[in-house]
Amino acid sequence: MNQGHPHYLNQLSCGLDLVSLAGEWVTASANTNMFTYEIAPVFILLENVVLRKMREVIGYKGGDSILCPGGTVSNINAVLCARYKHFPECKTKGVHGLPCQPVLFTSEHSHYSIKTAASAAGLGTDNVVEVKTDAKGKMIPEELEKQIVACLNYEGPVKKKPFFVNCTCGTTVLGAFDPVEPIANICAKYGLWLHIDAAWGGGLLLSEKYRAERFLGVERADSVTWNPHKLMGCLLQCSTVHLKEDGILMNCNQMNAEYLFQDDKQYYDCRFDTGDKVIQCGRHNDIFKLWLMWRAKGMSGFRRHIDGLMATAEYMTEQLKADTSGRFVLLWPEPECVNICFWYVPTRLRSSIKSNLTWPSKPVQQDLGRITAQLKSRMMNTGTLMINYQPQGDTPNFFRAIISNPAVGRDDVDFALAELDRLGHDL
Ligand SMILES: *Cc1c(COP(=O)(O)O)cnc(C)c1O
Repeated sequence: MNQGHPHYLNQLSCGLDLVSLAGEWVTASANTNMFTYEIAPVFILLENVVLRKMREVIGYKGGDSILCPGGTVSNINAVLCARYKHFPECKTKGVHGLPCQPVLFTSEHSHYSIKTAASAAGLGTDNVVEVKTDAKGKMIPEELEKQIVACLNYEGPVKKKPFFVNCTCGTTVLGAFDPVEPIANICAKYGLWLHIDAAWGGGLLLSEKYRAERFLGVERADSVTWNPHKLMGCLLQCSTVHLKEDGILMNCNQMNAEYLFQDDKQYYDCRFDTGDKVIQCGRHNDIFKLWLMWRAKGMSGFRRHIDGLMATAEYMTEQLKADTSGRFVLLWPEPECVNICFWYVPTRLRSSIKSNLTWPSKPVQQDLGRITAQLKSRMMNTGTLMINYQPQGDTPNFFRAIISNPAVGRDDVDFALAELDRLGHDL
């Protein structure tokens, strides 16, 4: 599989950045572990510099961060920190020691890793409340508050205790942004931990324009997940989680293993050791490839990179809107990220399509859902194009094209649309 090919629009992380690749080769050659400063001094300093920069971009003053093996683990770390903050006794006594059931809130379109985190943290997936989203896939703040109040009023043998709200900035399928400011207001009102899952959308923080439009209030969050291996095009894996409060990562996870961490070392300051802050022991060097890439591009280069992806995605949306042949139905006419969701319509069904912005009747949707899967098979067998598809809620299968590789140009978008038609018109 050549995921760096510009006709590969299948995955959130794709493309092959050559500077990042060079960094990965150096990393592999150095082959060191990130748990102590003693054995990775330069790489630890690079982590400090890059993570501080990312916190500055978020708008944190101070704070702490760590690189994780993927956004899922970043989200797990955020849930663990929140659990530690609200129920510190969990670290030693476990959740059985609690007089209440901690409850988490997340939107019905959020990533499944919030449930993974609830399960892994011993809180249980039944204690994850899925909050309704609006027609654009954004969490409805009034629904969130309603659910929180319902939990507070719950009268069972064990009381429920809301403590964590996940606000997704860039949902995995639609690329929708939950409204940060109103959700932050609700968290402040009820004293809840606010986490922002920007694993996908985080790259837009680098663009002045999109930061202002999508992330208003982001600095109010207690924690933020942000994957440079997605929109920023860094090689896999590179995921970060940022905490507003310094010290909480360490207090939450510290076990003081004597064989690794000796605070009487006289040749450096042991506060540079990172190994006791995380639920891992050994940790891969994921920073060098990102640092090198950032050095090569600079802030202005990254801004151009992100704005360029958004411009190509907007071009694809415009092409789909401008097409009046009945070949496409755009599910959401104004994507907020680089996810473009659409149905392809073969010739025999075009007479039942009112416009390329109007959802067809349910039976036609079912038909289009089946056609989507068949067309994907044709793509795979031909080997000329790759676009992911999925159902969402009760909406049958539709395509989700992703523009997260800067090598994808307008001519590639034109090719993709023509190729869909070439492969699928007779389905
Ligand atoms: C991709 C994604 C994740 C998970 O990240 P991994 O690096 O694949 O573990 C979490 N949340 C959102 C919104 C995502 O898009």
